[in-house]
Amino acid sequence: MTFDPRESIRESVSKRICDHEECADEGTHRAPIRGQAGQYHWFCLKHVREYNKAWNYFEGMSDEEVAAYRHNTNTWHRPTWSVTGKSRKTTTKKAIFDGIDDQFGLFRDDPLGMESLSVRRPKRRVPGPVAKSLRRLGLSTEATPQEVKIRYKELAKRFHPDLNGGNKEAEERLKRINEAYSYLVSAGHA
Ligand SMILES: [Zn+2]
Repeated sequence: MTFDPRESIRESVSKRICDHEECADEGTHRAPIRGQAGQYHWFCLKHVREYNKAWNYFEGMSDEEVAAYRHNTNTWHRPTWSVTGKSRKTTTKKAIFDGIDDQFGLFRDDPLGMESLSVRRPKRRVPGPVAKSLRRLGLSTEATPQEVKIRYKELAKRFHPDLNGGNKEAEERLKRINEAYSYLVSAGHA
C-alpha cells in the first residue's frame, strides 16, 4: 500500500476536531456559542454532553451578560499560561472563579472551550522535555495546545498501521508520536 501525504492533509483539513482543549477526537457535534450568534463549537459526543450541561449554568443570563462574562474570562486567561504546565490549570481556575461559585465544577476542564478562544499566547520558554516532545511532533515551542492537537491527529492518521500495511518503521514512529503527545497532555501542553 502506498501512502499519499496530500491525501492525509486533505482528510485532516476536512475533518473537525473536538474544541475541547484536551481532546483530539473528531468534532462530530455542533453546539451554538452562547452570546455569539451564528458561531458554533464542534465537539465529540462526550464533550458536547459536557457543554450542554455547562450551558445550564448560563441560564437566566442575557446574551450580553454571557458575552461580558466570556470576555472577562478570556482576558484573565491570557497571563495565566505557565511554562510548568502543572500550575496553569490552577491559576486559570482561580482567576475564573474569582467571585463565582463553581458548584457544578463546570469549568474544571474548560468545557466551553474558552481557553482555545483566547488570543494567541505570548512567546514563552518551555522546559526541555516539552520542547523535545514538540519537536518530535514537528512543532516549534510556540505551538498552541490547539495546534498540538491538530498536528497529533494528522500524524496519528499518517502512521496508522491500517494505512501502512504493518510497516515496522511506521509503527515505531506512531509509538514515538503517541509518547510525545501523552507527555504533552500530562504537562498541560496539549
Ligand atoms: Zn472531545
